[in-house]
Amino acid sequence: MRRHLAWLRTDLRSIDNTALSAACADRDAAVACVYAVTPGQWRSHDVAGVRIDFELRTLRELDRALKALNIPLLVLHSPDFSTLPADLAALAVHHGIDEVHANRQYEVNEIARDRQATTLLARAGIGFYLHHDQCAVPPGTLTKADGGFYSVFTPFKRVWLQRVLASGMKPLPAPQPRRQAYAASDPRPAAVAGFASHVEPETAALWWPAGEDEALARLARFAGTAIDAYERRRDIPSQPGTSRLSPYLAIGAVSPRQCLNAALQHQARHGESSGTTQWIAELAWRDFYKHVLVGWPQVCRHRPFRAETAALPWRHDDADFRRWCEGRTGFPLVDAAMRQMLRVGWMHNRLRMVTAMFLAKDLLLDWRLGERYFMQHLIDGDLAANNGGWQWSASTGNDAVPYFRIFNPVSQSRKFDPDGKFIREYVPELGDFDGDIHDPHGRGEHPGLAYPSPMVDHAAARERTLLAFKSLRRHDA
Ligand SMILES: Cc1cc2nc3c(=O)[nH]c(=O)nc-3n(C[C@H](O)[C@H](O)[C@H](O)COP(=O)(O)OP(=O)(O)OC[C@H]3O[C@@H](n4cnc5c(N)ncnc54)[C@H](O)[C@@H]3O)c2cc1C
Repeated sequence: MRRHLAWLRTDLRSIDNTALSAACADRDAAVACVYAVTPGQWRSHDVAGVRIDFELRTLRELDRALKALNIPLLVLHSPDFSTLPADLAALAVHHGIDEVHANRQYEVNEIARDRQATTLLARAGIGFYLHHDQCAVPPGTLTKADGGFYSVFTPFKRVWLQRVLASGMKPLPAPQPRRQAYAASDPRPAAVAGFASHVEPETAALWWPAGEDEALARLARFAGTAIDAYERRRDIPSQPGTSRLSPYLAIGAVSPRQCLNAALQHQARHGESSGTTQWIAELAWRDFYKHVLVGWPQVCRHRPFRAETAALPWRHDDADFRRWCEGRTGFPLVDAAMRQMLRVGWMHNRLRMVTAMFLAKDLLLDWRLGERYFMQHLIDGDLAANNGGWQWSASTGNDAVPYFRIFNPVSQSRKFDPDGKFIREYVPELGDFDGDIHDPHGRGEHPGLAYPSPMVDHAAARERTLLAFKSLRRHDA
């Protein structure tokens, strides 16, 4: 009996999983899946406790789905990147495995880890097969006429969309149940020391039920009807106008193929709408940042995409940083957003842009502090998307917002939360406030109001940032 192993990483699902399907391609082979608990690796990458909790809850659902296929789920405990390849090879030898399959991860450390695993498994006579699965279109396969990667989104999206439409994004056939198993499932940890979630369990269960069934149900609900109104509603944080699929995509409880296929099917049935077009474009952004990460791996090493912006004169002010982290800036929309992340482990996209720009441009604090804080608190923390979003907001990235475009946090609030519904939900101090909710201290003093005054004058902060960026241009000249 041949024995295959699917090593699951950011692809915690049983359906439409390229590595698992490849492991199951031989109908007679017995197959197991393995998931690695690697606290050192998680710590060095600032993986949030809320995301680990979500992964562990997802494993419980996944184990059920795999059991129906007679595929056991093994759990490998290994401290770190440096120990994992050898521990995996030992596990494979112990079970007499012939082939290991995994879906590629594109970050620098993950690539190095997989190279080492390839060497060690080959030494033991075991084949290690890596598949493209994380993106709708594999990184490296979309290049410009000169062979280089796209660094600008619009031309990238044009060719990306051609590929997506040509393939139709058909999900893979479901794996067939196995006749035999070569191991029993391992007990799954309910928690991992050092990775307690900052989100209350009831909140996490309410906002983020785990598993691929939930992911597919969420996708079906969204792509069924809500998608048509997406373009109109996606910027209003008080409304559930977006899919809220990012946590499921980040850990691979659903695949980008499944998402795109659902959107394309909706289009085929109901015709193209601005909503479907826009949502497909968001999935293109997801792929784009992963392609950028492969083309410019320095973004994995805390370096700005635009090298000259490394010289920006960021301020150092721990107290100001803490106020931003805790949602006490005195700008209600910024504070509501930061507290949303603290309460539910997720933040609406419009607000990620507002808060990121506030840190980098109103406070002139290094965007990498914010990037790290987001990773430590987001259930959907993903290096490529997070880095891309931060470098976009800080104007240090490829195809970033121009440095002189600086959101006014009060105007953003008036525009995207006009009646203050979102603010009231997350900033209880303003729950009953009947003045200008977007600028509570703007029209005189409010004795007894337990909400802080703005920590900066936006107009002055804006000038300071413009000068900082202009100083770079002078150095360039
Ligand atoms: C500063 C900053 C940090 C961010 N950090 C992350 C992160 O760590 N992980 C993450 O998944 N997204 C991140 N994003 C992108 C975006 O905010 C989230 O993907 C989105 O809010 C998720 O909500 P949703 O699932 O309802 O998205 P929808 O609007 O329904 O979009 C569908 C999917 O498209 C993808 N997507 C949407 N917008 C973007 C984008 N701008 N860039 C890349 N992919 C996108 C996501 O996978 C999302 O689930 C960040 C954006 C900014 C500005």
